Amino acid sequence: MSLLTNATHRVLDFLWPPICIGCGRVGTQLCRICGNHLTFWDNSRTGLESLQLSPSLRRVYSAVEYIDDAQKIVKAVKFSGYWTYTTLMAQLIVLQCGHRLRQEKIDVLVPVPIHPRRRRERGFNQTEKLAHELGKLLNIPVDTKSLYRAVYRKKQSQQNQTSRQSLHHDFAVRGTQLINKNICLVDDVFTTGATLSACTRALAQTPHKSIIAVVFAKPR
Ligand SMILES: [Zn+2]
Repeated sequence: MSLLTNATHRVLDFLWPPICIGCGRVGTQLCRICGNHLTFWDNSRTGLESLQLSPSLRRVYSAVEYIDDAQKIVKAVKFSGYWTYTTLMAQLIVLQCGHRLRQEKIDVLVPVPIHPRRRRERGFNQTEKLAHELGKLLNIPVDTKSLYRAVYRKKQSQQNQTSRQSLHHDFAVRGTQLINKNICLVDDVFTTGATLSACTRALAQTPHKSIIAVVFAKPR
């Protein structure tokens, strides 16, 4: 949960007004001109194009293609800690796939978890913040406790191919909160699908109605 109240956010907005991620223009997180340069994802395509995906993962929705300013947004949040841009990410998800997500009758949003040690290193989990922003806009509860990351790994860039392939032992589910639910995983970027697949495998161990995922950006 955010430690900042809405009033505090308003004061911070006054002191540090939002800046366009694309061009630096003051007053908005994404100006109209830079927004026009985003390439929105065509969600009418079926989305199971990666052979690495778990068969239990029925659909993957995405807001935009992972190029240009979409990459800037993701990197600013993940590596520079500008997590207020998760608000923009959630707004773009709702703009592009809100209608389809509402039709899915999702019971709960589950952000892809990071290991507690990684969380201490980074100070936050950006997918958790993204899920909370999305949950507010779609009026869907967020569960950050049931699915957890049991294995700590080095940063992805330091991993070799073997450890990337063995991700599916990394996640586990605790408790009964997710039983018989329509679950929607939330992640910032879909890359190979290995992480979402590993999460799905863990979630599929408990009885559920359906598992889908939504990401902010996905490579073409
Ligand atoms: Zn701009």
